[in-house]
Amino acid sequence: CGIVGYIGYREAYPVVIKGLKRLEYRGYDSAGIALYDGEELRLSKTQGKVSDLENRALKEIPLGGTLGIGHTRWATHGEPNDVNSHPHYSNSGELVIIHNGIIENYESLKAELKKRGYTFTSDTDTEVLVNLIEDVKKSGGLKLGKAVQVALNQVHGAYAIAVFDKTKPNEVVVAKLGSPLAIGIGEDEFFVASDASPFIEYTNNAIYLEDEEMAILRRGKEIKVRKIKDDSLVAPYVQELQL
Ligand code: GLU
Repeated sequence: CGIVGYIGYREAYPVVIKGLKRLEYRGYDSAGIALYDGEELRLSKTQGKVSDLENRALKEIPLGGTLGIGHTRWATHGEPNDVNSHPHYSNSGELVIIHNGIIENYESLKAELKKRGYTFTSDTDTEVLVNLIEDVKKSGGLKLGKAVQVALNQVHGAYAIAVFDKTKPNEVVVAKLGSPLAIGIGEDEFFVASDASPFIEYTNNAIYLEDEEMAILRRGKEIKVRKIKDDSLVAPYVQELQL
């Protein structure tokens, strides 16, 4: 399974698709992508290979957008099928997430969210997480980064996630516990992936997030890395990758 993300000035589609192909060695059963140009959100996902996703996306969606997230899934909760593939939306349609890992307490969180009126279209633990973030965000009037932090403090399990908010087209939030997550730092652009292979041709500056860290990637701004538990800022260690 793998995740790839891009926010910057390039067309995200080729960066993300090529990146997903480089992560195919990790194994997966489904693949999906979301692209955002600040107005229209385009999402395409399918059971099968990244090449199946390419065929499908070409037919289904215009491929423009300088923000993109892509996923290869290794199903843990919910069978491998199109609906359970990532990305997943929150109920409002505003938040979009990709996730590798397992949310172990998803059943109790899901029951609680159902009581609060949330509905679910997939059988995944991931769709529970994106709606938990939405619920925390809306009920607390929080920004996305803060909402992700508060939500993750209620979660047991493992995750590498990338999530963005349609109403904030210049920002992607990522977080890690257990599953790997590398961030590539370019000039006015950021890359995210399960390892550095998807972005090595664009930049050799990388940050490997530690467990229980999250980062906010804002177009044209400095990266901010924080500890999920106590909100303290972390001075990120930028490694120079050897080509
Ligand atoms: N637990 C999630 C799911 O089953 C993510 C699986 C993965 O790591 O790809 O959808």
